Amino acid sequence: MPKIKTPLVTKDLKTKVLRIRRQIHQYPELQFEEKKTQKLILDELKIIGIKGRKIARTGVVAMVPGRDSSSKKKVLMLRADMDALPMDEDTDLEFKSKIKGKAHACGHDTHVAMLIGAAELLKRKPVGGPVKLCFQPAEEAGVGAQVMIDDGVLDNPDVGAAFGIHVWAGIPIGKMGIVLGPCMAAVDEFDITIKGKGGHAAYPHVIVDPIYISSQVISALQSVVSRNFDPIDTCVVTVTSVNSAISYNITPPEVKLQGTCRTFSDEGRKLVKKRLIQIVNGTSRTLGGSAEIDFRQMIASTINDKKMCEVLWKASETVLGRKNVFEDKPMMGGEDMGLYLREVPGCFGFLGMKNPKKGSDAMHHHPLFKVDEDVLPLGVEILYRTAERYYS
Ligand SMILES: [Zn+2]
Ligand SMILES: [Zn+2]
Repeated sequence: MPKIKTPLVTKDLKTKVLRIRRQIHQYPELQFEEKKTQKLILDELKIIGIKGRKIARTGVVAMVPGRDSSSKKKVLMLRADMDALPMDEDTDLEFKSKIKGKAHACGHDTHVAMLIGAAELLKRKPVGGPVKLCFQPAEEAGVGAQVMIDDGVLDNPDVGAAFGIHVWAGIPIGKMGIVLGPCMAAVDEFDITIKGKGGHAAYPHVIVDPIYISSQVISALQSVVSRNFDPIDTCVVTVTSVNSAISYNITPPEVKLQGTCRTFSDEGRKLVKKRLIQIVNGTSRTLGGSAEIDFRQMIASTINDKKMCEVLWKASETVLGRKNVFEDKPMMGGEDMGLYLREVPGCFGFLGMKNPKKGSDAMHHHPLFKVDEDVLPLGVEILYRTAERYYS
C-alpha cells in the first residue's frame, strides 16, 4: 500500500475499529437477523456518548450534533450496511466466522466498524453541521434501504445528502474509485414457465414440445439487448437456469426458466420488462404453447450526483492523495444504496482493499474473501472528511 497517513485516526481508535470489525466478522447475521450487530452498534455509540435508536427492525439510526447548530444546510447522512451472506467462510483467519453457513464475505462488517470510528471522530471534533448515522440491515437481499426509508430514516431531521463507501476487492488498497453518474445497475428477476403438451418423445407431431419453445425463447431474448436497447445505454438479460423433467423418451409438459435483467435508466428498465413479456408470450403462442411470467423489480439503480461526487472525491483526495482517487466505470451489480439516492443527492464510492500479498484479492461473495484491514483507518477518515467537506 502507498504510504498514507490518517492523522485523525489515533492508535487507540485504530485498535478499537479493528476490534469491532473482528467481533462482527465472527458472528455474521443475515437479513433482519442483525440483533447482535445492532446491540453492538448501540453499545459502542453509547460509549462514545451518542444515543442511537433502533429502526427498520434490526437497523440503527443516530445523530451526531455539529459545531454550528445554525447551519442552514439539510443534514448529511452516512450509511453503512450490516448484513452477511448465507455461505461458509473458507479463510484461515483466526477470527473467521463462527457460524456455519453465514459469512461476512462482502465487507459489511468493515462498513459498520468504519462508521462507528467516524462517529467517534465526529463527536470528538464536530464538523460544521449535524451528521445522521445510518446502520442499515438486509442490503444483500436488496430490501433493507426501503424499510429504513419507510421507517423515516431520511426524515426528522430531513436528510439533504447521503454518502456510503463500499470496500472493494477489485481496487488496490489505498485507492478510491468514484463513478460520476449511473454507478450500479437496477436488478430485476424473472421466473418463466413455458407450457406445452407432454407425451412420448418419439411422436413430436402429437405433442407441443416446451423444450423446443424454451430454446427459441432464450434465443429471441438476446434480441432485447442487440435490437431493442439503445446501444449507448447498458443492459444485460441473462437466463440463468433451465429446468424440466429428466428423461430420454418423455417430453415434459413444461419448462421453467429463471434469470436476471440489469439496467441503469428507468426507461431502459421499463423497455426490458415490456419486451421480455412480449417475446416470451409471442414466441410461446406462435409455437403452440403458452407462458406464465413472474417479473420482479428488485433493486433500483444507484445514480451518483455529480456535485456530491465532488464532495467524496475531495474528501478522499485529502486522505489518499490526488493520484489515488480515480473515475471508476459503472458496474452491473446492484446495491440498495440507490434507493436513498433516488430521494436525496449523494454518492457511493468504492474504497480499494485489494492486496494479493495479504490474500485480499478474492472477489466479494467468494468463500476466500478477505479484507486488508489497513483499509479501516482510511475509511474512517474519508467518512469524517466527507462530512467536514459537505458543511464547508
Ligand atoms: Zn454483497
Ligand atoms: Zn456489499
